[in-house]
Amino acid sequence: MKLGIFGGTFDPPHIGHRKALENFISYPVLDKCVVTVTGTPPHKSFLRVVSDEDRLEMARCAFGDLAQISDLEIRRKGKSYTIDTLESFIKKCDELYLYMGSDMILNVEKVWYRFEDILKMCTVVVLSRTGDDFGCLTEHSHYLEARYGAKILLYKSEPFVVSSTQIRQMIKADEPYEQFLPDAVADYIKKKGLYK
Ligand code: ATP
Repeated sequence: MKLGIFGGTFDPPHIGHRKALENFISYPVLDKCVVTVTGTPPHKSFLRVVSDEDRLEMARCAFGDLAQISDLEIRRKGKSYTIDTLESFIKKCDELYLYMGSDMILNVEKVWYRFEDILKMCTVVVLSRTGDDFGCLTEHSHYLEARYGAKILLYKSEPFVVSSTQIRQMIKADEPYEQFLPDAVADYIKKKGLYK
């Protein structure tokens, strides 16, 4: 079985995540995809304004029709390390795939705990977040393949350029943000008055 892991803080989940997930599922045709909602990501140690339960619920709204939503990292408590997640899923599949946006793969050596083990354990599937970094991504992928034996697949499809940070700022500033979110996520944020 080919299993894909798509991890994120999803604070909130947006259309960029959803488009990336759609790509991830269809290339390389996964048998199953699990979206893992992080607890406390090691590289984002600021205080969260939205609860874990709200982020989980928004992930269900955004991706529930495409993937299984896992609260494994939230239940684990403490810092969320991707390697721990991969180690618990590797036993359940023949091939493991991990999605990363370009910001993540370009910093993999600096930011990711036990990144060499991560690169050995799975195929990393990458989508550009900006649309203008394909040259740099190709070069970096070749470097990671040569240096660590990494297996990396780069998508050529156009990204949907947006971040959760931008959306949180738009909501706070009372600017229109709905076009960047799946409808059900925008409805949930309004209903619960999040990010105000
Ligand atoms: P923040 O702005 O709070 O840092 P984010 O928008 O980067 O959040 P995350 O939840 O940290 O969202 O991202 C989860 C995964 O999705 C990461 O691998 C990230 O690179 C990727 N990703 C985020 N936004 C996009 C996008 N617009 N297009 C493609 N991939 C994305």
